[in-house]
This record gives sequence, C-alpha cells and structure tokens, in this order.
Amino acid sequence: MDFQLTEEQALIKKAVHDFADQRIAPLMDEVEKTGRFPAEEIIPLYREMGLIGMTLPEEYGGGGMMAFDAVLAMEELARVSPIASGPVFESCFGPIRVVEKFGTEQQKRRFIPPCAKGEKLMAIGMTEPGAGSALTDLSTRAVLKGDHYVINGQKRFVSGGGHSDMYMVYVRLSDKRGAAGIGGIVVEKGSPGFSFGEQEEFMGLRGMPSCDLIFEDCVVPKENLIIPEGGFAQLMQVFDIERCGNATQSLGVAWGALEAAKKYAKERKAFGKPICEFQAVQFLLADMAMKVEAARLLIYRAVVNAGMGLPSVYEASIAKCFANEMAKEVTDMALQVFGGYGYSKEYPIERLLRDSRGWPLAGGTVQMQRINIASAMLGRRFNQR
Ligand SMILES: Cc1cc2nc3c(=O)[nH]c(=O)nc-3n(C[C@H](O)[C@H](O)[C@H](O)COP(=O)(O)OP(=O)(O)OC[C@H]3O[C@@H](n4cnc5c(N)ncnc54)[C@H](O)[C@@H]3O)c2cc1C
Repeated sequence: MDFQLTEEQALIKKAVHDFADQRIAPLMDEVEKTGRFPAEEIIPLYREMGLIGMTLPEEYGGGGMMAFDAVLAMEELARVSPIASGPVFESCFGPIRVVEKFGTEQQKRRFIPPCAKGEKLMAIGMTEPGAGSALTDLSTRAVLKGDHYVINGQKRFVSGGGHSDMYMVYVRLSDKRGAAGIGGIVVEKGSPGFSFGEQEEFMGLRGMPSCDLIFEDCVVPKENLIIPEGGFAQLMQVFDIERCGNATQSLGVAWGALEAAKKYAKERKAFGKPICEFQAVQFLLADMAMKVEAARLLIYRAVVNAGMGLPSVYEASIAKCFANEMAKEVTDMALQVFGGYGYSKEYPIERLLRDSRGWPLAGGTVQMQRINIASAMLGRRFNQR
C-alpha cells in the first residue's frame, strides 16, 4: 500500500488546483447570484484541460484514466464550488458509464464520443414523485411498438434537467413488479412527447439545473434501450461509481470550508491576537482536518480498489455516507470559526454549508447507504417492505 500520488497524479492535482483558483473561483460569485452556470465559457476550458470524460475509454474519445484521477480533479474543483465540478462529475461518474459498461458497440460509438468531448451531457432520471428511496416502485412505463418505445411517466429532481442533452431514464418495461421489470433507456432532448417541468429552487447548489422530466407518449428509437428488463442490478452496479462522485462533491465542499477557515483564523484578530492562537479555534480546525482526511481516505480506497472498473457497494456506500455527513459538520464548524462573518453572504461559508446539504439526499440518502452497508456486512438483503 502506498499513499503517495504518482508524479502524473501530483501534476494533475496541482494543475487543477491552480486552474480552479485562477480561472473558476472568480466566476462562482456570479453563478451564486444569477443561478446560471456559464457552460459555454467553462466547458471549453475544461476540454482544453482534459477534464471532461477523463474516465471514458480512449477508443471513444475519452481520457482512459482511472476514477481516482478524476476524483483528484473533482476534489480540487469542488473545493471552489460543487457546481464547478459538476461537468467532470457527470462525464466521469455519471450515467454515461452505464453505456460504457453495458451498451452495445453501436450504442457506445453513438453516445460516448459527444460526452467525452463535452459537446453533450447525460443526466440520470430515476426518482419519481412516488418513488424516491423506494426506487423499485417506479412507474414510468416504456412500451415497445414496432421500432420504437413509447414512454409515459414523470421523473423528479433530475440534476441537469432541461440543460442536459441526454437522459438515462429508468423505466418499467413490463408488468413485472419491483426490480424485475426495470431497465434503462436513453431519451434525447427534443424527442417527441418529452418536456420539462419548472426549474427547482433548492436551498443550495445554485447554478445546478434541476427539474422534472415529463413523458407523454414520448417516442424513442428502440436502439436507445441500453439495459433491458431485468437489468436493475446492472444499473445499481454502475451507480456505485456515481456514489463516489457524489462523495467527492462533499469532500471538496468540506475541504474548501476548511481551507477558508484556516486562512481566516490566521488573519482575524480578537483580544489583540489572531484567533488561531486560541486553543478552542485550533481544536475546531484539528477536528475539521481529521474528518476531511478520513473521508478522503475512504473515497480514495473505494476508487483505487475499483481501478478501471467499478467499486464495491460496501466501499462506495461507506465513502458516500461518511463524506456526506462529514461535509455538513465541517462546513458548520467552519462557519463557527468565521463568527458572524460566516453567516454573511460576503463570505463563501454559508454557501458551502447550504451546498453540503444536498449530497446526503442525492444519489440515495445516508439512511439508504447504511442499509447497503449493513446488507454487504451481513451478506443478505433486507426487504424494506
Ligand atoms: C440535490 C439533489 C440532486 C438530485 N439529483 C437527482 C438526479 O439527478 N436524478 C434523480 O433521479 N434523482 C435525483 N435526486 C433525487 C434523490 O435521489 C431522492 O431525493 C432520494 O433518493 C430520496 O428520495 P425522496 O426524496 O423521495 O425521499 P423519500 O424516499 O421519500 O425518503 C424520505 C425520508 O425517509 C427515509 N427513508 C425512506 N425509506 C427508508 C428506509 N427503508 N429506511 C430508512 N429510512 C428510509 C429517507 O432516507 C428520507 O430521510 C436528487 C435530489 C437532490 C436533493
């Protein structure tokens, strides 16, 4: 076991660190104010840096790198804002990986290159108004009619909704109940019968589009079916890598808050000396560092063990659950270090605190991760019904 980065990994990390500070951080205040992510400005920069599709196979235009490399890059961007790391998250850990792992050669050639080049993003539509944690209750239905599927139903809280060009939609392909009837199909923006709901107003993550997907006799070519009926386990298997991306968002947010608190503690004076000289502040910073480092190691373990493949559900769920809860605590502690200024919108801490709250809900709640962890530990699934 070796905890040192390779020379190449250290270079990636340093390059993204500087890039995030110099080019991306100045744009983030505007994103927070307007709620709009300037993709047209940022994506070409990411493309130049090789940050889009880092983990997608080289033969389809991707970077052919390990998930660990992408975690290093994402962590540096999310330190500035999880909105900034969004395109790296989607293109390296998102549902396009389902196509990569389980699509046919033709599907890979059609869907992966545009995502690898940053020309298109693929979002994921799983959640429904009546099916969140209980995902296998989903009722969006796809029926094969000749050479196309007709889809009816509604998806909720889809990150990238309205903005992304393609959606991996979890659908029910037959009357079989529960997981058995579920598969995954790609629906492209502009497909007949496909529309979007109103944009969500979340408490944080401003600049991340999110809305309902509405399917009313939506017509999709049958070649877009990636995971046929009965492949729910495959969808979930790939989702373990998405969980590592989600955990990295939490890690980046917490690390950003810790770095800001460290700097502030050295500058801010009370009782005639910098507040970092008070032991109570030192202990806050030390506790924050322990939590951030522990989450970092859990995420690194999950993705390093995955290599070029997929992580285990046990390691991915532990990393996600721990990192999600850690980020809530660490951003709150950072706010305390900042005193009243932490509560003010003049400083980034209140934003990081609000942003930290989204990830323990997205990608399966922390309660559902605990169920995964217990199931893996005990070697059996527990029926929640
Ligand atoms: C920022 C954000 C981004 C998201 N992005 C996407 C996306 O891109 N695509 C997508 O499809 N969805 C997305 N979601 C939706 C997300 O996946 C769901 O919100 C989540 O799975 C929980 O479902 P729910 O909101 O319906 O809560 P519910 O399932 O109604 O759960 C409510 C509460 O009950 C608890 N609970 C439920 N069942 C159990 C159980 N068996 N044991 C213990 N506790 C339980 C939950 O943990 C939770 O605390 C996103 C959500 C957010 C907030």
